[in-house]
Amino acid sequence: MAEKTILVTGGAGYVGSHVCKALARAGFTPVTYDNLIRGHRALVKWGPLVIGDVCDANGLAEVMAQHRPAAVMHFAALTVVGESVLYPEGYLRTNVGGTAAVLTAMRKQNVSRIIVSGTAAVYSTLAPSPITEDAPIAPANPYGDSKLAMEKLLGESGFGHVILRYFNAAGADPETETGEWHEPETHLVPNVLRAAAGIGPTLKMFGDDYPTPDGTCVRDYIHVNDIAAAHLLALKHLESQTGGHIFNLGTGTGHSVREVIDTARRVTGKPIPVTVEPRRPGDVPVLVADPARAMKALGWEARASLEQQVTDAWRWVQKSQV
Ligand code: UDP
Repeated sequence: MAEKTILVTGGAGYVGSHVCKALARAGFTPVTYDNLIRGHRALVKWGPLVIGDVCDANGLAEVMAQHRPAAVMHFAALTVVGESVLYPEGYLRTNVGGTAAVLTAMRKQNVSRIIVSGTAAVYSTLAPSPITEDAPIAPANPYGDSKLAMEKLLGESGFGHVILRYFNAAGADPETETGEWHEPETHLVPNVLRAAAGIGPTLKMFGDDYPTPDGTCVRDYIHVNDIAAAHLLALKHLESQTGGHIFNLGTGTGHSVREVIDTARRVTGKPIPVTVEPRRPGDVPVLVADPARAMKALGWEARASLEQQVTDAWRWVQKSQV
């Protein structure tokens, strides 16, 4: 039974809760470790919840001693690019210090495998899209800096690890048992849908003068359940592979902010009011993944289209009103 337990830091958050559901479906017991500052108790439905801070190595070690997890999936982190520009020291403390605490606890309790949330924000703005894992690394904001430092720490740790560099997670559980719930919400897809539902303000489009086909930023939106599926495959990968492994998680297709808004208008049937605002600090014009390495090594593929992501997210917004 112990072999089937996975410790999920940040399991009460957006990606973490979807991964917990996927783990439970695959026969694992996800033990969520979360301070509930940004996560939500109501999203912890598939295993026990331990309330604790990710920077508390002793607390983490206690949970590992009690539950004997086969591996850690580490999501607990600060993830908002704009906020990181205003509060870089907090990002360093939580994202690097938190990972250090997780590794310290693992060493103490002989847990030897870890899968972490990486990000496309580590890549240089000069990296040509689609971006492979070998593209130049040069984060453009403190969030990316903190995640790169986390990656280096893992590389030096000696633990078997997989770093999954997410592009833009979107969508929700199609059964609406969990979904995206940030306060305040900063991400494009939920903000567009909140505007459509009349529960959020008019959508602010941050910049229409980027060097892209329609002037708005292009991102690679990937369904959160496709990300969750990659975590299960990464776990399997670590059963047979030692060392560290880095994979991009994206679809390989980019969509502009305008395309996302048009898709949302189509899916919801609502007129979505938009104002054009200045660029948001830290944003880069284009981020699109080359997911070939994950496809080859993990046998993984992102299946859900942008339309599917918006459809599932819309269902969640309507049900949850968040
Ligand atoms: N964006 C926007 N309005 C919003 C939220 C986001 O125009 O209310 C833009 C943002 O400037 C970026 C893209 O949408 O170009 C994706 O932003 P998001 O915060 O969803 O993800 P990020 O790429 O920053 O991780």
